[in-house]
Amino acid sequence: MESLRYKAINDLTTSSNGTPVVNSTKITAIFNENVFTLKVAREFLSDEAYKSLLSSIRGGKKIDRAVANQIAAGLRQWAESKGVTHYTHWFQPLTGSSAEKHDSFFTLKGDGTPIETFDGDTLIQQEPDASSFPSGGLRATFEARGYTAWDPSSPAFIMTIGEGKTLCIPTIFVSYTGELLDYKAPLLKALESLNKNALDVCNYFDKNITKITPTLGWEQEYFVMDEGMFNARPDLLASGRAVFGHSPAKGQQLEDHYFGSIPERVYAFMRDFETESYRLGIPLRTRHNEVAPSQFECAPIFEEVSVAVDHNTLLMDIMDRVARRHKLRVLLHEKPFAGINGSGKHNNWSMATDTGVNLLAPGKTPKTNLMFLTFFVNTIKAVHDYADILRASIASAGNDHRLGANEAPPAIISVFIGQYLYKVLQDVKERVGEKFDEQDEAILKLDLHRSIPELLLDNTDRNRTSPFAFTGNKFEFRAVGSAANCANAMTVLNTIMAETLKQFKKDVDALIEKGDKKEIAIMHVIREYIVSSEKILFEGDGYSEEWEKEAEKRGLPNLRTTPLALDAMITDKAKRLFENNNVFSHSELEARHEIELEKYIKKVQIEARIMGELATSHILPAAITYQNLLIQNIKGLKELGLDESAYDNQRQILTKISEHINQVSSQVKLMIQARKKCNAITDTREKAFAYCSEIKEKFFDKIRHHVDKLELLVADEYWLLPKNREMLFLR
Ligand code: ADP
Ligand code: MG
Repeated sequence: MESLRYKAINDLTTSSNGTPVVNSTKITAIFNENVFTLKVAREFLSDEAYKSLLSSIRGGKKIDRAVANQIAAGLRQWAESKGVTHYTHWFQPLTGSSAEKHDSFFTLKGDGTPIETFDGDTLIQQEPDASSFPSGGLRATFEARGYTAWDPSSPAFIMTIGEGKTLCIPTIFVSYTGELLDYKAPLLKALESLNKNALDVCNYFDKNITKITPTLGWEQEYFVMDEGMFNARPDLLASGRAVFGHSPAKGQQLEDHYFGSIPERVYAFMRDFETESYRLGIPLRTRHNEVAPSQFECAPIFEEVSVAVDHNTLLMDIMDRVARRHKLRVLLHEKPFAGINGSGKHNNWSMATDTGVNLLAPGKTPKTNLMFLTFFVNTIKAVHDYADILRASIASAGNDHRLGANEAPPAIISVFIGQYLYKVLQDVKERVGEKFDEQDEAILKLDLHRSIPELLLDNTDRNRTSPFAFTGNKFEFRAVGSAANCANAMTVLNTIMAETLKQFKKDVDALIEKGDKKEIAIMHVIREYIVSSEKILFEGDGYSEEWEKEAEKRGLPNLRTTPLALDAMITDKAKRLFENNNVFSHSELEARHEIELEKYIKKVQIEARIMGELATSHILPAAITYQNLLIQNIKGLKELGLDESAYDNQRQILTKISEHINQVSSQVKLMIQARKKCNAITDTREKAFAYCSEIKEKFFDKIRHHVDKLELLVADEYWLLPKNREMLFLR
C-alpha cells in the first residue's frame, strides 16, 4: 500500500489544489455585516431597549426582564432577516477554545402550533452541559452545574458554517454558586478594577476623564501546511506538534521567507479567512510572512481589550475552519517544528481615556508628560512587583517549548524601554532628590513627544528579544503563546496595573497630605518607583547566556517550566492581589491552578503516548526493514567471497542503525514504565512536576535524537512520516 506520506507528496505535485476564486469586494462593504452593532441595534430595537442596551454597554447597568424580552425579539428579527435558524450562547471555557451549544428558535406551542421564539430569559441565561468543561474541582465542591450568562458588552454575531447560520450570544460561564469557570468573566472584572484605579490617578491630571479603557492589539503567528501531509503525521493530529523530525537542510538561515512573497495557495486561504473575519467585525490590518518557512502572521487594528480577546478567539476558530476548506491546516502550536522559530501572540497593550488620550503615548506638554511618566513607570513597577504572576499567565506545555528556547523571549520577565526613556528615568532618579522643588521642573518640560522618532528608532531592533517591550506608545507583551487565549495574560496585566495604581494613589495622597504640591508629590513617588523596580529593566540581548546570569544576580525569577511557573498563582501574594481587585477568590485561584496543571499533564501525556506509538508503529518498522536490506546485502557480498572492504560502508551504517533502533525501543519502554509511575500519583501538582521532569525532560529529547538520526540513515522510500522539509516547503 502506498504510504500516506507518498500519497500526500503525489497529490501535491499532481493536483492544482483548486485555488478558489477570491472575490475582491471592498472591505468596508462587508465589515461588521454579521454583527449586531449599535447601529443595527438602533434599527431593530425600540428607544427604550436601545437605551438600556447602551447604558449596559457603557456603564455596566443591569437590563431588566421586560427590556431583555424586547432586545431578544430585536435580535431574532435581525438574525432571521439574515437567514439564521439557531442561536447559541458562545463562551470561552478554560479548555482554551470557544464553546457553543446550538438551539433552534423553533418550538411548539401547547396546542402543537409550530412557532419561532427567542425571549429575554433565553438571551440572558442558559445551562450548557457543563460537566465536561474543566472546573478544577469547583463544581464538585460547590454545585454540579454551571450556566452561561449574557455579556452585553460584547456584541452578538452570526457565525456561518457551510450553509448553516447561527446567532452567537457572547456569554460568561459561571457555576451556580458564582465561581467563574471561563476566561472572560475574570477579564471583565480585571478591566473594571483597572478602570477604577486608573481613573483615580488620571483625575490628578484631568478631571474631565471619566473612563479608562485598556486596549489590545494582538499579533497572531501561525504555520500553514498541506492537509495531506498533516494527515500523515499522527503526532500533529494528536498534539499539534511534530514530536519527531530532523531539521531540514535548509531552514530559516537564509531568511528568505520573511521577505519573500506569500505563496499563492496560502494567499487564497488568507483572503478567505480575512473576508470571514471582516464580516464578523474583526479589523484585520496586516498579513505577512514570518521568519520560519511556512510561518505567517496577521494582526488587527487594536480594540478595547474584551472585544479584542473575543475577536482573537473567533479568529483562531475561523482560521482553522477556513484552512480545511483550502485543504490546508493551520498550526497554532507554539513550537510545531524543532530547529526553527516558534509562534507567539504579541499582546500590544495600552490604556485610553474617554477624552481620547493614549496614556502610554509620550505627551506634548509638561502636564501630559507627567501623566505619561506616571503610567509608564507604574507599568514597569507592576511588571517588576508581579513578574512571577505575569509569567504564570503565559505558562503552558506548548509555550514551554518556546520560552527560553533560543529564539523566543526567555522565561525571565524583563522590560525593555529603549535608551532614550532609560535616560529619562535615570534623570528623574538623579534629579528628583530632596532638593527637588517647584523651580526645578525641567524634567517635566522634556519634550518627549518630539523625541518620538528618536525613541522609535531606538526601539525597532533590540526590543525583539524582550518579553515585555515599550514600542513608542504601548507595551508589547511578547511572551504570550500563539495558541493561548489572550484573556489570561490580559487579566493578569490589567490586575497588576490596577493594584499598582491603587498603591500609587495612596503614596501620592500621603505626600499631598504632608503638604507637598501635587506635581511634586507625583514626581517623588515616580522616583521612588523607578528606584524600587529598575532591576526589571533590561536593554541588552534577552536571548544571550549573559542575560540569564545577570538576571540571576539581580534576583529575577527564571521559571523554565509550566508547573514551576504556575506556583506563582497560589502564593499569598497572588491571593491578596486578585482578591483586592475582586478578580478571583482564593478558591477560584486554586481551581484555576489545578486546571492549568491538569491541562499540562494531559498535553505531556498525549505527546508521550504518541511518541511511543509512532516509534513502535512507524519508526522502528521502517528502520528494521532497511536494516534487513543491509543485512541481506552484506550477506550477499560475503557469499560472493569479497573481502570486508567491499561491505565496510554498509556495515558501518548497519551498526549505527542497529544502535539507534535499540536506543529507541529501550527508551520507549522505559518511558512507558515511567509514565505508569507518574499516573499513580494522585496529587495534581506533584503529578505535573513528575510529568515534567520524569517524562518530558528525561525522554523526549533523547528519543527524538535517535529517531531523527534514523531519519537521516534509513532509505527515503521506507520512511513513513512526512519530513520537515516536505511539510515546510511543499505546497
Ligand atoms: P509592529 O509591532 O509589527 O511594528 P505596530 O507597532 O504597527 O506593528 O502595531 C502592532 C500592533 O499594535 C497592532 O495590532 C496595533 O493595532 C497595535 N497597537 C497600536 N497601538 C496600540 C495601542 N495604543 N494599544 C494597543 N495596541 C496597539
Ligand atoms: Mg510587534
